[in-house]
Amino acid sequence: MLAEIIDGAAVARKIRGDVADQCAMLATRGIVPGLTVVLVGEDPASAVYVRNKEKASVEAGMKSETIRLPASTTQEELLALVDRLNGDRAVHGILVQMPLPKHIDPQTVIRRISPAKDVDGFHPVNVGKVLIGEKDGFAPCTPAGVQVLLAEAGVETAGRHAVIIGRSNIVGKPMASLLIQPGPGGDATVTICHSRTNDLAWHVKRADIVIAAVGRPEMVTGDMVRSGAVVIDVGINRIADPSAKSGTRLVGDVHYESVRQVASRITPVPGGVGPRTIAMLRRNTVRAAEQQV
Ligand code: NAD
Repeated sequence: MLAEIIDGAAVARKIRGDVADQCAMLATRGIVPGLTVVLVGEDPASAVYVRNKEKASVEAGMKSETIRLPASTTQEELLALVDRLNGDRAVHGILVQMPLPKHIDPQTVIRRISPAKDVDGFHPVNVGKVLIGEKDGFAPCTPAGVQVLLAEAGVETAGRHAVIIGRSNIVGKPMASLLIQPGPGGDATVTICHSRTNDLAWHVKRADIVIAAVGRPEMVTGDMVRSGAVVIDVGINRIADPSAKSGTRLVGDVHYESVRQVASRITPVPGGVGPRTIAMLRRNTVRAAEQQV
């Protein structure tokens, strides 16, 4: 069996369309959803990601602003900016791009963002809301995007066994919070595996749905996956490839060629999970605007 490819870009397009419709409706009430991204320092990967976020927000009929601060910015200066944005009625969503320079404590900054504007979903209030199933909370964009991807691809989660590899606060843990909730897109039986899990392959082999968020190139191989499983690859890893023009190429945490021989559905890297993360950020910002007005 050769797995069917789940096209993340198509799902992202659909979310973009929905967001544009919601923006048009809000526009009739004189509301323009506003997203402010704060970038401290010069992390090159973040700069690219932020540029894509800006472009996408303009497309969707939202107001997007990026505030770039030098790497020498103090924690107090950054907190003062967050306070100002919290009080700005034209700003409905705030995202402080990680990683921050070493002298700034990310948790202090995350906790300062108003939970109502925390469209990245990392404030403890939103983490708790997602865990207890309160719908007005914001889930982090990557796992929320995976849930939408599964739904749009028609993958039933109810009663299925999902094995998540990775326990980060950004992907693994919130992914589990979402999949165990009762209702559409949830009701799964969830196993979380991590760096201290004994016999990872044994667990993965028992999964109907595998979600890999490890950060280790191609570590999930075909022999680990049950025939017919759905495999979602969150990983983004750049590896050396002398045959490529740039000398490198992007791969996921899943060994695509071997896993697609056994899985029923699979997401490619690039083009799977990635495109929807930004679409979900816009969706959260529109919802933040609706909830704030
Ligand atoms: P992280 O480093 O915070 O967490 C990695 C997790 O993998 C840890 O919880 C660790 O316990 C687990 N792990 C490490 N080695 C393991 C092993 N041998 N067996 C089982 N588990 C092991 O990473 P993260 O921020 O969760 O990101 C994971 C991957 O997803 C990365 O490749 C990252 O680039 C990618 N990512 C993609 C998006 C997107 O939009 N597509 C967003 C965020 C992260």
